[in-house]
Amino acid sequence: MRPSASPAAETAMGKTSEHPFMPYVPRGCQDDIIGDIARILDDGRHIVLESGTGTGKTIVSLAGALEHARPRGKRIIYATRTVSQSDQVMRELKAIRRIAEVSGIVVTGRGRSCPRMRGIQGMDSIPPHVQYAMCREMRRTGKCALGQSPDPALMERLCGEDFPASGDFDRICGERNLCPYEARRSMLGRTDVVAVPYAYVLSREIREHFLAGVSNGDPSGIVLIIDEAHNFAEHAREFESFNIDSKLVKSAMESCKDGREIATGIPMKEFIGAFWDRVRSEATENIGLGQSEHMFGREGPEAWVMRKFSLDRHGLEDAISRMTEMGEAETAAMIENGKPGASPIELLGVKLGLWCDGASERYVRSVRVDPDGEYLRAACIDIADVSGFLRSIPGAVHMSGTLHPL
Ligand code: SF4
Repeated sequence: MRPSASPAAETAMGKTSEHPFMPYVPRGCQDDIIGDIARILDDGRHIVLESGTGTGKTIVSLAGALEHARPRGKRIIYATRTVSQSDQVMRELKAIRRIAEVSGIVVTGRGRSCPRMRGIQGMDSIPPHVQYAMCREMRRTGKCALGQSPDPALMERLCGEDFPASGDFDRICGERNLCPYEARRSMLGRTDVVAVPYAYVLSREIREHFLAGVSNGDPSGIVLIIDEAHNFAEHAREFESFNIDSKLVKSAMESCKDGREIATGIPMKEFIGAFWDRVRSEATENIGLGQSEHMFGREGPEAWVMRKFSLDRHGLEDAISRMTEMGEAETAAMIENGKPGASPIELLGVKLGLWCDGASERYVRSVRVDPDGEYLRAACIDIADVSGFLRSIPGAVHMSGTLHPL
């Protein structure tokens, strides 16, 4: 379906669309598309919409989804790649508000919305549960005293009349000594539309926490709209892919201050050192002149480490779990001492756990070299988690300016 790209004309005489949430004079087949979206969502199915830039994808998807969701009390999650695209959703909600009751908000994570954490170096790589622990500690020690219970009348005005852009929402909260993150959370289950970055759909940890607030964790209580859907699978693969580099390994080894063991007779430092020595050997032995990568088959450097330390697969998994637990304890101690971020031991333990699990079919694993040295790359080829989530939602709109390569 391709609506025409003629200029928008807003009605001066009230709504002329046959759809209750379409605030503009419909162009081309926009009314038909809105009807198709509502009908397909009513049937509990997904719709893929291809439509060029400037043809009104945002407004038709919102109008169609609202027509389905409002009578059923469902929440619409509008996933965008950038915050400015979420801001555009708020602008369209403001237009809809001229003809119908509607509410909405842009939600962002602590890394962007928390005035105490914004600007901390490497915030993007700090896991959400660590950000939560940092917040709790700042409140406990009085480093953050921002209010967490916003005035309901203010929130109703912001989410039901003004629809501020994300940055403006943060500023308004700041002027009132309110925590913008908690102010947003207070509205999660109460607004028709929540615009979020892709990470809120892609990350299981973030998604489960978020959905608990939006629909008590019930996927059938939401309608999902995915903006720029043609790239979504690629984003999902990239989101689940990861590197283990020498900088992280070095930091983790420096954090192994004593002879703590992760299995009987295996000190953590010795384990990490042996693992990384093997990675280096794999690179030296297998990456020739002019090459930068060596792909592993089913056996990666962990197989050699298992033989060296006489560990079977369970023993290896237990040792890595132990490393992660020790890392988590170190993260907690760091936060208590006012040091932001996660322990490199925890970060390495989590990645090693995934890496060894990566012997399954979900990742293509390799060792690469660049000017900073060797690093491991696990490239995700199976986005099973997010695919499973998408399949669990009875009703979604996948839209894009181009279907390629969807
Ligand atoms: S309460 Fe809000 S502003 Fe304060 S540290 Fe936590 S997230 Fe940041």
